Amino acid sequence: MSEVRTAICRFCHAFCGVNVTVENDRVVKVLGDIDNPMYHGYTCIKGRQLPEQHYHAERLLAPQLKTAGGHRPIAYDKALDDIAEKLQAIVRRYGPRSVAVYTGTFSFPYPLAKPMAQALLNAIGSPMLFSSGSIDQPGKPMAMAFHGRWHAGPQPFAESDTWMLVGANPVVSKWGGIPQYNPGKRLHDALKRGMQLVVIDPRRTECARKAAVHVQCKPGEDPTILAGIAHLIIREGWVDTAFVDAETAGFAALKEAVAPFTPEYVAARAEVPVQTLVEAARTFATGTRGMVTAGTGPNMAPRGTLTEYLVLAINTLCGRWLRAGEKMPNPFVLLPTRHGRAQPEPKPQAYGYGTELRVRNLTDNAGGLSAAALADEILLGGEGQVKALFSVGGNPLAAWPDQLKTWEALKHLELSVSLDIKLSATAKMSHYVLPPKLGLEVPGITMPNEGVWFYGLSTGYPEPYAMYQPALVPPPAGSDLLEEWQVFYRLAQRMGLPLTLNGQALDMTNEPTTDELFEVLTAGSRIPLGEVKQHPHGHIFDDPSICVLPREADCEERLDLGNAIMLGELREVRQEPTTGHAGYRGEQTFTHRLVSRRLNDVYNSSGRDIPKLMKNGRYNPAYMHPDDLAAMGLHAGDVVEIASARAAILGVVEEADDVKPGVISMAHSFGDAPTEDHKLFSIGSNTGRLTSVDEDYDPRTGMPMMSAIPVNVRRGDQTLALGS
Ligand code: SF4
Repeated sequence: MSEVRTAICRFCHAFCGVNVTVENDRVVKVLGDIDNPMYHGYTCIKGRQLPEQHYHAERLLAPQLKTAGGHRPIAYDKALDDIAEKLQAIVRRYGPRSVAVYTGTFSFPYPLAKPMAQALLNAIGSPMLFSSGSIDQPGKPMAMAFHGRWHAGPQPFAESDTWMLVGANPVVSKWGGIPQYNPGKRLHDALKRGMQLVVIDPRRTECARKAAVHVQCKPGEDPTILAGIAHLIIREGWVDTAFVDAETAGFAALKEAVAPFTPEYVAARAEVPVQTLVEAARTFATGTRGMVTAGTGPNMAPRGTLTEYLVLAINTLCGRWLRAGEKMPNPFVLLPTRHGRAQPEPKPQAYGYGTELRVRNLTDNAGGLSAAALADEILLGGEGQVKALFSVGGNPLAAWPDQLKTWEALKHLELSVSLDIKLSATAKMSHYVLPPKLGLEVPGITMPNEGVWFYGLSTGYPEPYAMYQPALVPPPAGSDLLEEWQVFYRLAQRMGLPLTLNGQALDMTNEPTTDELFEVLTAGSRIPLGEVKQHPHGHIFDDPSICVLPREADCEERLDLGNAIMLGELREVRQEPTTGHAGYRGEQTFTHRLVSRRLNDVYNSSGRDIPKLMKNGRYNPAYMHPDDLAAMGLHAGDVVEIASARAAILGVVEEADDVKPGVISMAHSFGDAPTEDHKLFSIGSNTGRLTSVDEDYDPRTGMPMMSAIPVNVRRGDQTLALGS
């Protein structure tokens, strides 16, 4: 019997509403749900492969134990018994801090995974929780802490007449400024109604092709360009003076700091025409509504926090924050009501508090404990050394920076546990691999996309949309699988530890259901979860009466345009070399800069084993401009060696005239352990290996340079490639 039911696609963070055809307890087809009020039937090619993901031949259907002869199946109960016993021994011997958890991209769609992992760490007494956000865009919350958050939030895309994307390509990434529900259509509609789009990107991306102005710049120069745009806005009198006078401090300091970033200086340094720069500033600043938003690339490049700070400063100079009386675009649904106020929030401490890491003077910070320091925390002996690591929906060997160090670190662990659906690069090194159930086998809620609103400007839902999905199908027959949260709950049970979720003590005798835990997670929500459940296609819980409230009479907060740390960094930028491809430290010269990018058919390291997503190959091509290839006598498909100051990797070149000459554009999180490099054409290359966590890192977040990496390129070993 065939039945069509609605669901939330959880292949990526976009959470599209889909229709799932179920036959005999198996998913056979996934299409967009035309009745979904937010997504209107949109899906991408990845989402339509959910059946292949769920029934993939390589999907693990039972836990795996690493043995001398490779991984072999083990019953979940036995695996958890063993892990609990080992954890207790490690905590007894080395202390609570020896246990760490890393949550990766694939934990995001499962909203109980991270809180329950955190609950177990809390019960153990370990502060060592790390997330992929700390090696992705920690600059967003850091900059917000320095600049201050406007309580009512940013102007929404849907009502804007201008927008500036900095290194963001939301049509592909579903992130970075254009709402994630069918971003291509949203952009098309916005342009049709007259929106003027500005894109700053070294690549002529899908969004750049639609832009009124495309600043095709040298990678890594985002702070320079944004300082130049701020300079122009101030010089040309495009500042919203009333807003700046009433709501900010530090304007004079900002004006002085951006003064040396003249259009001529910026143009020469960033390799863009002066006129293009002026047009970009004019197009954005003379619009009436709309934001600057930045994507992953500039955040992975050096000085990501400064880039995000300048993004906020430009928005503030132009007064692009919601004002009293305007409708709150999203007063939240499954979170407590957000009554926005037209005032800055009190600024949190940005860094220098809480847990101290043992390397590089890093501490807790607004972007979270730095996962870039975790390999060192594992390798560095002495008190506090990490001995046990749980990876939840992540793939550290592919995703963390400084892959060679990560590889050594993972080998040093006394206990490594991967919660993963397959034997990924990291799982292959793990003592235990605990496979979770997948999205159509477990209940889901869209709440994570409300919560990320706090992370930065360009994230989450800008409308009060929510959806609940029950489990639609059982896991494959004969499988032995748990949800992620159950792993941590059952470990706590075995260790005799009480768990607390969202401030509520959990019953540790009778295991709650996922739905019961969702109720705990959404306690105090504006709309009760039970009401959200009444809308199988999802629903926009609009309430026009919730408007931005006026500034409180006793509020003395100001947005900070003159943060001394950030403007100090900007002055350092001005001292840097302005030509060529010198390393940022200037001691070595390079021919190219390598930038990270997204590919439409895969989601970080996921999807590369699904036939319909592999039509462009299983590797991550090294996209280069045809002139660069011709100059080196290279052709598409040739193998090159790409060498940074840290290490070298192999790449397969692909001709791409949308890439600026002097740039190599490659997706990150591909590849495997160095011993697998000969499989280049089937696993790709790990750009993280080119990076170093000890050099060129943000001193407060630990974020190393992971994009705009200075590299040299030369012809590689073609024989090796042919034999792979
Ligand atoms: S964008 Fe694609 S993969 Fe992401 S949620 Fe939507 S359909 Fe799924």
